[in-house]
Amino acid sequence: MNPQCDYLLRFQPLFRRYLWGGRRLGTMLGKAIGPGEDYAESWEIVDHGDDQSVVLNGSLAGKTLGELVREQPAALLGEGVKAASFPLLFKFLDCNRTLSVQVHPNDEQGAKLEPPDLGKTEAWVVLATEPGSKIYAGLKPGVTPEQLATAVAAGHCETCLHEFEAQVGDCVFIPAGTVHALGAGLVIAEIQQASDTTFRLHDWNRVDAAGNPRQLHVDESLATIDYTRGPVASQRPQSVGPSVERLVDCDKFLLDRLTLADDATAVIGGDGSFHLLAVLEGELNVATKSIAGTTNETLSAGETALLPAAAGRAQVASRGKTVVLDVSLPS
Ligand SMILES: [Zn+2]
Repeated sequence: MNPQCDYLLRFQPLFRRYLWGGRRLGTMLGKAIGPGEDYAESWEIVDHGDDQSVVLNGSLAGKTLGELVREQPAALLGEGVKAASFPLLFKFLDCNRTLSVQVHPNDEQGAKLEPPDLGKTEAWVVLATEPGSKIYAGLKPGVTPEQLATAVAAGHCETCLHEFEAQVGDCVFIPAGTVHALGAGLVIAEIQQASDTTFRLHDWNRVDAAGNPRQLHVDESLATIDYTRGPVASQRPQSVGPSVERLVDCDKFLLDRLTLADDATAVIGGDGSFHLLAVLEGELNVATKSIAGTTNETLSAGETALLPAAAGRAQVASRGKTVVLDVSLPS
């Protein structure tokens, strides 16, 4: 009999190094990064082409997330969920320098790409800032396509973008088509559709060590931007249960934040969906009852794990004040 996909799964993170990265994935989030000053992203849970999370624990150790989706779709994703691959991607980002101004296609636009990709709706939760760290999200009121194109050509498109100073704990929702950039100093947790399509509108007139600018996709960006998306503010959390705030409720994912005092308990899961858990602060013990028996896993700050739908209700317990992001699919 195949090992059952019914216990909390931990994965090996995949690191991405880009010129805007830094060291905080290691110093702040405890990731085993190597030497180098440019660790930008830790892909915690991903099933996108060759980018595959690999299970670290239990009887499914060594399996990729893609294999699990193909072999045990209902157990992992939930009954009735139709997906050829895991629909979401979770990462941490260390934005040591400001990222490019960019926009992502929606599902319809992504389907027309060669090769086709999902659209990319994303949401961020701010984990750390530096004084003056900015978020650029959406256009200033009334900006027209012509005004934006003119500003881009003149090398100062930021004059058309809404910006605000980010605070730790802010959640920003970026539906596909919303122009955006993350500013220098931020550390971010990001949940997004499992897509890797980015159109870069502007890169702050930067060049690399050899004097070359990074590739821009100005025409694709201008054609992809949703000009009805004006200024984007941080989300207003809605209380949806004891210690639980809903940060984002959209057709691609639900993003909740669980805040537990020291030595508190709660229940996660059992609602038919998988739950992607990321501990931002404190420590969380997760107990699941599987066919193989009761399993206990402890997640520290900076660690993520995936509770398959078939794992049912998990009993969780905190050590110290504990903050956890909990991402699931809308029913
Ligand atoms: Zn983005």
